[in-house]
Amino acid sequence: MVLVDFSSFLDLPRYGITIPSHDSRKTKTLEALKSHPDLSRRIPEWCIEGFGDLLSLEDLLLVHGKSYAGGFFNENARQRIISAFELVNEDGSFNRWVPDNATEPLPAMLPQLIKMVTGPYSAGKIALESGYCHYLGGGTHHGHRDFGHGFCPFNDSALAMRKLMKEKRIKRGWIIDTDAHKGDGTAAIFANDSSVATLSIHMASGWPLDGSLPPGHPSYTPSTYDIPIESGEEHTYLERLEASLKKLKASHSADFAVVLAGADPWEEDELESTSLLNLTQQQLLERDQLVYNFLQAAGLPSVWLTAGGYGQGAWKIYASFLNWVLVKRLGGAGVTGRR
Ligand SMILES: [Zn+2]
Repeated sequence: MVLVDFSSFLDLPRYGITIPSHDSRKTKTLEALKSHPDLSRRIPEWCIEGFGDLLSLEDLLLVHGKSYAGGFFNENARQRIISAFELVNEDGSFNRWVPDNATEPLPAMLPQLIKMVTGPYSAGKIALESGYCHYLGGGTHHGHRDFGHGFCPFNDSALAMRKLMKEKRIKRGWIIDTDAHKGDGTAAIFANDSSVATLSIHMASGWPLDGSLPPGHPSYTPSTYDIPIESGEEHTYLERLEASLKKLKASHSADFAVVLAGADPWEEDELESTSLLNLTQQQLLERDQLVYNFLQAAGLPSVWLTAGGYGQGAWKIYASFLNWVLVKRLGGAGVTGRR
């Protein structure tokens, strides 16, 4: 299944923010799927538009500290958002932010932020019924317990895990993170929680591993399995990912998985900080197929998140995998062998 909720889209230019994360990641992906010859006739079987759930402050506290999360609901909201989206540099200059172009104050985005981080939980419930759900959004893996950075105010994968556990829908989970950037917030949140194992395959250097943590956080917490990929070592990527997935399965049981299928390791990604990892479109498709087949073989329901993907072409990475997986899941009816 694919879950999308247009009301959860965060319109960054409205707040003067110029991060190149475009809604086309979701809208064009959906358009491509809906016009696919094998999927266009069966849209109700694979597409769910809209969800009604909203996480409460109490839910946010399953993962985040009271003072930090509560700050989004009081006079500290503006500063919390500036910090999480990294809008002001140390010297006071603006970073990817032109406040004069804003038509709304930053705290006005809070309802969308909450909706946005609710998505993985909503998709998780669908995945537990249907086996698989891909949420067009989510993947805020740089959200830590008491701070956010890298455009991530809250950690949505962790929130989904903890809330599904609290509701006794799941007992143990895996978070498999293939975004270009290390899932630093996720690793830190679950460092002392044996119910969730984390795997992150990412750029070996650059952001966020370059010492950009706030004071009091001198070093990064390891994930259960970290797979740092050096620039120029992309040809080892799939092999190393597969080996680590096998270790994960051998060492940690689970009944649910969250996958961050970021498009930003793509060689054409436009965010400067992703330039150290350059996978081809074909390698990214094979990455997602590898993870999907691995989870199928393990018999685990999984929720997939779009995570990072920057520039107007990012949607092609998501659409490519989703075409493949949806046709496969629908039983291949009408498949014409074009792929
Ligand atoms: Zn990323």
